Amino acid sequence: MKTAGRVLADKVRSIKESQAFDIRSSALPTWCPGCGYFGIHQGLNGCIKELGVPHHEVQVVSGIGCAGRYPFFSHTYGLHTVHGRTLPVATGVKLANPALTVFAVGGDGDGLAIGGGHLPHVARRNVNINYVLFDNSIYGLTKGQPSPSSPPGTKTKASPFGTTDRPLNATLLALTYDASFVARLFAGDPEGIQKALVEGVKHEGFSIFHIYSTCLTFDKTFKTWDNLKKWVHPIPEGHDPTDRKQAINLALEDDFCMGVIYKRA
Ligand code: SF4
Ligand code: MG
Repeated sequence: MKTAGRVLADKVRSIKESQAFDIRSSALPTWCPGCGYFGIHQGLNGCIKELGVPHHEVQVVSGIGCAGRYPFFSHTYGLHTVHGRTLPVATGVKLANPALTVFAVGGDGDGLAIGGGHLPHVARRNVNINYVLFDNSIYGLTKGQPSPSSPPGTKTKASPFGTTDRPLNATLLALTYDASFVARLFAGDPEGIQKALVEGVKHEGFSIFHIYSTCLTFDKTFKTWDNLKKWVHPIPEGHDPTDRKQAINLALEDDFCMGVIYKRA
């Protein structure tokens, strides 16, 4: 029969074991309640736990914006850098210490506007880092302006008559730049994010995770939870993720299929 002291010691040990590799920091996220970024955080945390990577071997690098705040909420090494420069800084970190598992984290405004010129080069160099692109098609932290992935007609305070520009498709861009691992995912599916991240982190080379998310504070019409839940669906059965042409065709034809679209064999 266990003594009360032994029962308590066992309980403490089991709590510690369940928290091992949990990268959520004690700083609670300052994102708006209901923001899709919580689902991404959950997926990334689940990935680190599943892989059992110690906190001191994980480096998170962010740029600016709501997604840029991610390193504050992650109990790992973190760099909150400057607008659009996540990929070059993450490349430098990986070069300096290849033993680190490196995540570049940023939003659509950060990574597809001023930072857009870095994606082709990190892809063609096949740097072994993981780029988690939080795409809610809006600039959230600066109070809701259209971003490079906003659809035509997006009305905001900065575009009261609706935008006229065509949106960038980060999945298609990554495929045409010959990124060696491309997944498109949904913030409302943390398990799916975890699964793809685990596969992508194990992949030797550049991995991009294009995650559709919501900004429920500033986008009431496009990437809302209700719309995304209706639109997203799994990649069709029979899709061969090692076939780049097939992957590009799929990305051209279907904006809302989710999963690992391409993985160089
Ligand atoms: Fe999320 Fe939008 Fe709030 Fe930023 S402003 S935390 S993107 S809901
Ligand atoms: Mg955004």
